[in-house]
Amino acid sequence: MGAPWKGGCLCGAIRYTIDAPITELRACHCTNCQKSTGASGSVNATIQSATFKLDKGSPKRFAGKADSGRTLYRFFCGDCGSPIYSQRETTPEVMNVRAGTIDDSTGLKISLNIWTKSARSWGHIDPASKQVPGQP
Ligand SMILES: [Zn+2]
Ligand SMILES: [Zn+2]
Repeated sequence: MGAPWKGGCLCGAIRYTIDAPITELRACHCTNCQKSTGASGSVNATIQSATFKLDKGSPKRFAGKADSGRTLYRFFCGDCGSPIYSQRETTPEVMNVRAGTIDDSTGLKISLNIWTKSARSWGHIDPASKQVPGQP
């Protein structure tokens, strides 16, 4: 697959298009991502915000303190709760889109795992990927 990438939340209230190449994914094992996803963490495509377009709906925003101490805005569907993307308060020009909300991400791989020091014992980490214990 390739650009444009289409995606959305579980209930369909939020739909988006990313018009940029996505070549790699980054998995975050921080405790906030674990709570926010109910899983071992989040898996994200880092993109320029200018390439992201909402086609439908408008996500709710939660301002959380990241493990790094910075404020991280987490955007999610207010109807079904799907996490859609996150943005640092200080760098709104970049966003991390939750890879599981992309309709078809065939071929993409996780190339970097961050915050592995708080990884769950049952969270899979590809040994071939790059790993960083905290914030890279
Ligand atoms: Zn939804
Ligand atoms: Zn995280």
